[in-house]
Amino acid sequence: MTRQIHLGSVQIGGGAPLVIQSMCNTKTSDAEATLAQIRRLADLGCQVIRVALPSLSAVPGLARICAESPLPVVADIHFDARLALEALSAGAHGIRVNPGNLPDLARVREVAEAAARLDRCVRVGVNMGSLSPSAREKYGLTAEAMVASALEYLRIFEDATCRNLKVSLKSSDLRISIEAARRFHSESDWPLHLGITEAGTPMAGTIKSAIGLGVLLLEGIGDTIRVSLTAPPEAEITAAHRILDALGLRPGRPQLVSCPTCGRTRIDLIPIAEAVETEIDRLMSAGKSIVLRKIAVMGCEVNGPGEASDADLGIAGGNGTGVIFKFGKPVRRCPEAELLPALLEEIRAAAK
Ligand code: SF4
Repeated sequence: MTRQIHLGSVQIGGGAPLVIQSMCNTKTSDAEATLAQIRRLADLGCQVIRVALPSLSAVPGLARICAESPLPVVADIHFDARLALEALSAGAHGIRVNPGNLPDLARVREVAEAAARLDRCVRVGVNMGSLSPSAREKYGLTAEAMVASALEYLRIFEDATCRNLKVSLKSSDLRISIEAARRFHSESDWPLHLGITEAGTPMAGTIKSAIGLGVLLLEGIGDTIRVSLTAPPEAEITAAHRILDALGLRPGRPQLVSCPTCGRTRIDLIPIAEAVETEIDRLMSAGKSIVLRKIAVMGCEVNGPGEASDADLGIAGGNGTGVIFKFGKPVRRCPEAELLPALLEEIRAAAK
């Protein structure tokens, strides 16, 4: 169990539900466009947003974003400690600093004291591409070096009595990311933000992230996640939801089991499965909790009845017909055209 911290109004770690975050790809100096993107992301289920702060000229934009954002805002800081201090003054709920490119530790101490005084959150974000010079010299480009970088930096913030700290250890190499997170988790109880950096384009990046995040989340490691994709950030939120769904880590969302279809399929199953998924997404986005553990959409009598009867709700297709199952029992047979409406009706009835 990690210790619990807060980032604005969002609780992180210490048994709080996993938090999904993303990063705007708008210019922070363009507060209007950035706020519009943050609102879209919030509607999709993003809970924390990070924005770049590349220069002092973007600080007024950041101040407006922090004042109007529906989500806690983390300013991403590199190279210049003044940017971190300005971000905190501008109202950023958190800052992300990178040990490798803020090597002047006296300046980092100033940032730590300001964050402690204002009770803001600091993410120590270690990337394999930018390790602290001392850790890199001692351990080379390894998971050990990433953890040493994080611990070295954390000490500065702990000494300044910062109470809201979290850490990320990102490498584009899956094995190194996983090893670094495991090592850190065994040595520290500060919450961990998980992500596979530069994971790639939507399909490849989602798969890579799902593997890396999935391994760690199944071990109980990780308090916040980001699926980094070479795509609009909206796609990151959808992918994050899908990963958590597959791991059964989204309370109130049933698992959807659907057969891949084959030469035995006698109903047009793919649109039924897609429509069921869309309806679950819609209800979840509307803040509903669906009181069903598993929904099965199966094409035929081979695995169909078995899977459908193991689910809280399901269909098993036949030749132009199908059987609806509820809590393990067949409740009725109906023509193919009535299967989807019947399923959707049951799902809506189970949404509270
Ligand atoms: S459940 Fe039936 S239709 Fe679906 S893949 Fe299996 S055998 Fe094919």
